[in-house]
Amino acid sequence: MDPLIRQNAAGAVIFFTTKAFNCSIPVGLSDSSAVLRASNLTSLSNKFTLCFQPKQVHSSKIIIVTKETGQIYAADGIITNDTGLFLSIKTADCVPILMYDEKKRVIAAVHSGWRGTDKQIVRFCIEKLVSGFGVDPKELKVYIGPSIRDCCYEVSCEIAGRFGNYPYKTKNGKPFIDLASINKELLLNSGIQKDNIHLNAQCTGCESRYFYSWRKRKESGRMYAVIGLPLQNRINQ
Ligand SMILES: [Zn+2]
Repeated sequence: MDPLIRQNAAGAVIFFTTKAFNCSIPVGLSDSSAVLRASNLTSLSNKFTLCFQPKQVHSSKIIIVTKETGQIYAADGIITNDTGLFLSIKTADCVPILMYDEKKRVIAAVHSGWRGTDKQIVRFCIEKLVSGFGVDPKELKVYIGPSIRDCCYEVSCEIAGRFGNYPYKTKNGKPFIDLASINKELLLNSGIQKDNIHLNAQCTGCESRYFYSWRKRKESGRMYAVIGLPLQNRINQ
């Protein structure tokens, strides 16, 4: 089984890992070789040297990182236009969201659980891409990875109430919400084109054989959402 759900995008490497991906990415900046081995992507070892994984804290904080980034940052969204650097976000039910602007050569990775969705972290990320990198939201491609869907994600009435503007299911009087769809709505409201949003419909709860699901199995493992711009070949050097 392929350990990755690969996304086709010219000029960038984008994938979501499954349980078959046998590697854990440390918090902070790390060498990318273990990730490339576990991904069967060793042919890219001269294109990617480092990987950055933030300390995720269910915030709406977005940071810009580079290969020189030294410290470990607490954040739930990361942006770079640096090449050779994988951005990584880890989840087990929460919504992983990757963004790519081919024209401006900039990428982002966002972790959006119910708290991040409530805080509209994707909106803040897009605002930072626009103000910091001149991104046109119409050009931005967005990839939403597997997450727990409204077939499985039972929440309290208090949490469901926070998302009262969005339709939600009820079973036996209990509300079930769909964070992936809510994030998609937030993306559309931020000017992302419908055709540029690629939503993986798989539910981590229903498919907990393939994905880690904190809700279904209380597993400690995590999946990674990874995006990177390859190092350019140097000519005349
Ligand atoms: Zn489900």
